[in-house]
Amino acid sequence: MRDCRLFIDGEFCDAAGGETYESINPATGRPLATVAKGGAEDVARACEAAQRAFEGEWGAMTSAERSAVLAQAADLLEARTDEFAQLETADVGKPITEASNIDVPVSVSYLRWYASVTDAAVGETIDIPNAGQIDFSLYQPFGVVGGIAPWNFPLFLAMLKIGPALAMGNCIVIKPASVTPLTTSLVCECFAEAGLPAGALNVITGPGSVVGEAIVTHPRVSMVSFTGSTEVGRRVIELSAQNITNLSMELGGKSPTIVFEDADADQAVAGAVFGLLLNNGQNCIAGTRLLVQQSIYDDACAAVAEKLDSLRVGDPTDPATQLGAIVSQEQFDKVTGAIRRGREEGATVAAGGTVPDDPELQDGWFVRPTLLTDCTNDMSVSREEIFGPVLVAIPFEDEEEAIAIANDTPYGLGSGVFTIDADRAHRMARALQSGTVYVNTYNQVYPQSPFPGWKQSGTGVERGVRGLLTYARYKNVIWDVSGEAIAWF
Ligand code: NAD
Repeated sequence: MRDCRLFIDGEFCDAAGGETYESINPATGRPLATVAKGGAEDVARACEAAQRAFEGEWGAMTSAERSAVLAQAADLLEARTDEFAQLETADVGKPITEASNIDVPVSVSYLRWYASVTDAAVGETIDIPNAGQIDFSLYQPFGVVGGIAPWNFPLFLAMLKIGPALAMGNCIVIKPASVTPLTTSLVCECFAEAGLPAGALNVITGPGSVVGEAIVTHPRVSMVSFTGSTEVGRRVIELSAQNITNLSMELGGKSPTIVFEDADADQAVAGAVFGLLLNNGQNCIAGTRLLVQQSIYDDACAAVAEKLDSLRVGDPTDPATQLGAIVSQEQFDKVTGAIRRGREEGATVAAGGTVPDDPELQDGWFVRPTLLTDCTNDMSVSREEIFGPVLVAIPFEDEEEAIAIANDTPYGLGSGVFTIDADRAHRMARALQSGTVYVNTYNQVYPQSPFPGWKQSGTGVERGVRGLLTYARYKNVIWDVSGEAIAWF
């Protein structure tokens, strides 16, 4: 079994309390690693180390020097793609092809992009009605930033916090999800080897209710980037009131994929299936409500069901596997419980709905990809985020009804629209209440693209240049150059 330790002030170390817990491989149900169970004392030590790095070597570096460190860390991570992919697969249960072709390369590409924008936070000159004064704005680092990440894309989401925090000149104390801590801890080796000064990056593993809360409430932490459920997000927002901590919140979703009768059928089915099943449906922006125009509803549902039934659920380490395990027993219970509730509420199971019967998979947490038809938008399966391979199909008559159903949710992370009518696509893009709208595609990610959350899916913006600025304080400077004293009295 491997050890997963804390990373504080440039060193791997045990938790101050000496406690550990086991991380479980969800495909086998067997222990995978002994993980340090950090606590508030460890967070405090990490925050002090981060503050020292900010006031010291890291804070003194130019944007070009920071860029070189991040680019080097990206190269080192890329050189270890296989190792990181295997570890991510073992920890999360995701297929090795996804970890190798998506999680690690996309993490590298984001880190490279953050390396290229360390000087992109450019302030403005502001035109004020006084020729004797100059007004300009500046972006400056917060100092110590906190990061709290969920379990679905551990390495990628860690890069989405570490990358922009360091690019903007901050230091960071980050907590991976308790069930998937391994790659976030290991990636510290790449940053250290790339020359990141001690203290600029710190990783504290352990329970969210202890480590997460200690990060949000530590007085050194001026900004927290949280990605996780809306429920825990609410708690983080409450805690942020203590020190009026700046927050960037990326929360849950229940995104619609809307298929009109004029859509290209192949494109729509592929989009609906990939939109749902990237990372086995354990994806914040997953298209989990399939809204289909009534005239093509039966045919579209049949085509999606056939595709889902054809997918191979299996050992995540097998390159032929398309869908791996669900991350934990708790999440497995949540997903299977939702399917059961859907049935009780009157949905028809058109695909999946059960665990695979392969005897080799019985010790892990596997669920066949599931399509529930005959659903309405008020059923619990249509309203609650299930976070697994479960798609709920709902018919609609026309554009107006599609918009009404799509927007009838507390969430607003993403939407997908499938149509060949450009006017309709444009109308829909404007009408849908979500931070991202995909047209004739789904689940596309680029470091340049901003990723805002609407409604209860979040506040602020991450990714893209706009998201980069989330990791900087904004300041205005007014400078009198007239030489005149203020004429007040
Ligand atoms: P979660 O909310 O249970 O946990 C997220 C993180 O918060 C974990 O590191 C957890 O340990 C920590 N945490 C738990 N209690 C805490 C507390 N009291 N104070 C501070 N931190 C605490 O989420 P999860 O189950 O790990 O991940 C799934 C959720 O994440 C889904 O809701 C999904 O939609 C969301 N998500 C959102 C995005 C996005 O970009 N919007 C991306 C990925 C995942």
